Amino acid sequence: MKRLTILGSTGSIGTQTLEVVRAYSEDLKVTALAAGTNVDLMEKQIREFRPKKAVMWNEQAAKELKERTADLDVEISAGMEGLLDISTLPEVDVVLTAIVGMIGIRPTIAAIESGKTIALANKETLVTAGHIIMPLAEKMGVPILPVDSEHSAIFQSMNGENKKQISKILLTASGGPFRGKSRKELETMTVEDALKHPNWSMGRKITIDSSTLVNKGLEVIEAKWLFGMDLDRIQVVVHPQSIIHSMVEYADGAVMAQLGTPDMKLPIQYALFYPDRRPMDGKKLDFYELAQMTFEKPDMDTFTGLKLAFQASECGGSMPTVYNAANEKAVALFLDKKIKYLQIPEIIEMSMEHHKVIENPNVEQILLAETETYDYIMQRMEL
Ligand code: NDP
Repeated sequence: MKRLTILGSTGSIGTQTLEVVRAYSEDLKVTALAAGTNVDLMEKQIREFRPKKAVMWNEQAAKELKERTADLDVEISAGMEGLLDISTLPEVDVVLTAIVGMIGIRPTIAAIESGKTIALANKETLVTAGHIIMPLAEKMGVPILPVDSEHSAIFQSMNGENKKQISKILLTASGGPFRGKSRKELETMTVEDALKHPNWSMGRKITIDSSTLVNKGLEVIEAKWLFGMDLDRIQVVVHPQSIIHSMVEYADGAVMAQLGTPDMKLPIQYALFYPDRRPMDGKKLDFYELAQMTFEKPDMDTFTGLKLAFQASECGGSMPTVYNAANEKAVALFLDKKIKYLQIPEIIEMSMEHHKVIENPNVEQILLAETETYDYIMQRMEL
């Protein structure tokens, strides 16, 4: 029996994780859950999965949840204190981090320090604090198991291989809903257009990130840390069908890949049961039906969000934090219809140009770089 803490249980990854738990209730037990403000869904999850503890980031939401679950044996708390507590519970084996944003850094560090296995969905953690997280995990002997489908595919393609013989990682990208469009066409894209992802069903922020290729940029930086790979050995390949979830090329030219229908439950389940593979319901690949698989080079001149990720990672230190924070703010403004689509990469670039890099930043400096970036954008945009 594996005992889990799920950070971000009401989100896209969180709810799919609970589907896996539901399918394997004999082997997986939810010990604690955390969310931001969604009291309705959290209450339902508590009633179904009966965790020992639950955390709402928002104080008011925690208060309301406490009242609503007064008939149950569950301890409710709020804020960072609550997140740190449930990430370090002695009985928990795996902490699945599926909160959106940099709020995930501190609980992840605390979980690693307590020796928990990390099932990592939250990209921002490695993007901004990879230089802290990876050495710490190595020191503590804690596995970081990727939940992101591309990183899981890379991880699976490395199984049983000698890592020293890897020549490159081939990170696949669907290209998003705007693949093939010109900058002129992108000028008029609306929130509704950007939220239509061709293959994956995901949260709103990550769906916008897929359309700008910033999501791929974040994944490049994540892969660099997760697999200890130099940037020049990470190649992005646009593969619109999203059948190959990523690949690894070895010294002899052999390429290993993981293929499957686009379903996040597969990488989630793989991380939860690693190194076991368990049966999973749902559509399997039918190679007779699969008409074609195509590949392209990403258009980094149009989708500058990807190019900026390479630049931010190359620069290192606090720059990836600024890349990520500027994107978070710009996407929020776009979703609020306060800025135009193409202003997203413009705001990232402007913020990166303004930033004075801190080498090897600690957590406080990372979080400060985040707020300074937010403030700078609000001031520059006069919002
Ligand atoms: P969602 O927006 O769907 O869900 C985010 C979750 O985090 C919700 O449960 C939300 O709670 C919770 N949350 C937000 N802020 C806080 C906070 N301050 N404290 C506690 N909980 C909080 O996001 P996704 O599930 O799409 O993505 C989660 C992470 O996984 C992201 O980092 C994303 O990049 C990554 N990822 C997602 C993939 C996907 O397919 N969706 C694929 C690979 C990686 P509430 O509902 O109450 O707001």
